[in-house]
Amino acid sequence: VLRWFEQKCAGSKRLAEQAKAVIPGGVQHNLAFNHPFPLAIRQAEGAYLTDVDGNRYIDFLQAGGPTLLGSNHPAVRQKVHELIDECGPVTGLLHEYEVKLAELVCSHMPGVEMLRLLGSGTEAVMGAVRLARTYTRKKWIIKVGGAYHGWSDQLVYGMRLPNTGRMEATGIPRGATGHTQECLPNDLDALRRKLQLNRLRGGTAAVLLEPLGPESGTRPVHAGYNAEVRKLCDEFGALLIFDEVVTGFRIGMGGAQAYFGVRPDITVLGKCLTGGYPMAGAIGGRKDVMMSLVGGIGTTSRRAFVGGTLSANPLSCVAGYHALREAERSNAAVVAGRAGDRLRLGLEEIIRRRGLPYVAYNMGSIVHLQTSGVLLLDTSSLWKLFKVKDEARRRKHMMEEMGAAYTAHGLVTLAGSRIYTSLADTDDVIDDALNRFDDV
Ligand code: PMP
Repeated sequence: VLRWFEQKCAGSKRLAEQAKAVIPGGVQHNLAFNHPFPLAIRQAEGAYLTDVDGNRYIDFLQAGGPTLLGSNHPAVRQKVHELIDECGPVTGLLHEYEVKLAELVCSHMPGVEMLRLLGSGTEAVMGAVRLARTYTRKKWIIKVGGAYHGWSDQLVYGMRLPNTGRMEATGIPRGATGHTQECLPNDLDALRRKLQLNRLRGGTAAVLLEPLGPESGTRPVHAGYNAEVRKLCDEFGALLIFDEVVTGFRIGMGGAQAYFGVRPDITVLGKCLTGGYPMAGAIGGRKDVMMSLVGGIGTTSRRAFVGGTLSANPLSCVAGYHALREAERSNAAVVAGRAGDRLRLGLEEIIRRRGLPYVAYNMGSIVHLQTSGVLLLDTSSLWKLFKVKDEARRRKHMMEEMGAAYTAHGLVTLAGSRIYTSLADTDDVIDDALNRFDDV
């Protein structure tokens, strides 16, 4: 495999070496890791990526999820070109597409009556937490353990490198995480105990979770979990925040909230919201809650301030609006979901036939391939694995080797364990991919 990289990826290697001098670690994007060096991409189209050396890959990374329509969708690109010709990327004033995008999102997402656009998922989660604290006048935030909600000080708390157990985030003073709590997914008793305890010391402003379970369902939650959390939030007067950065529009136009029939008070959006174009982040929610972003209006003069020079710029809005209209028209979530089903069924067949200790499962276009042989339902089972001597190092090594092998066989995935399918993944693409998985 390493010889393949040496022979076929000289251009990527050269650029990666050059990058190391001016870019810390040689990579900017947190998902551009690849062993032995990151691929330098020249062209992206539909289901495929082509690197600077002319190698073509099936793209199951999809930049971490935003390109539900496949890369570089021509209809969206055309609209972006037209907008740029007319007014350029930003003015700081109101643009028609800002309103159109907000109306479109509100029309689909049950829990979104109003929308505030921001710069990224990280920013939107930060804003959602501030909004919840302002509205409820309470302090505590309970997040469901092991989930990634962006890299802000208060939420990156407890975060460890996937599959290694090593702490990733340092430089965060204890005070910054002083009002963040974590409880394990599926553990409703623990959540109730925390809510009870917090009642005596400032109250819980919000419970924050990903509706499929942490890391887009890497640790899945049971079917009734979200509804149970909703009930607990109502009982204790806490807001329910769904982080739908990954699931928004990918599970369906109404997100996971429509799928599960559970209405959050605040929804965090990102990724697919702008169809892969920059500045993908938004807070949506109940009108009375959302009005706390304004202040001075209605009953409260308290204001949760959020902002951003490039927030809601016309370029992001035109891209988002047309990407979502295209997703509506093409039924992208369902088509990409069927591709995910086909891929998962094929992976299961390979696993069975070869007697591999792996687990494959999917929720539509979000496909998981866990090579630990067990479903890691909670973070504690992950920690138990790491207590085995050298397990963390072994797993990291295996992840790198597997990732490199996938790449050498023309597959780009998220560390070999998470796969996003798109509208561009026809049966032929999936069948071709399955042959490649089988070879690996
Ligand atoms: N929440 C979830 C569930 C995510 O998966 C991510 C990004 N992977 C974020 C928040 C942060 O979004 P961004 O990278 O746009 O800051």
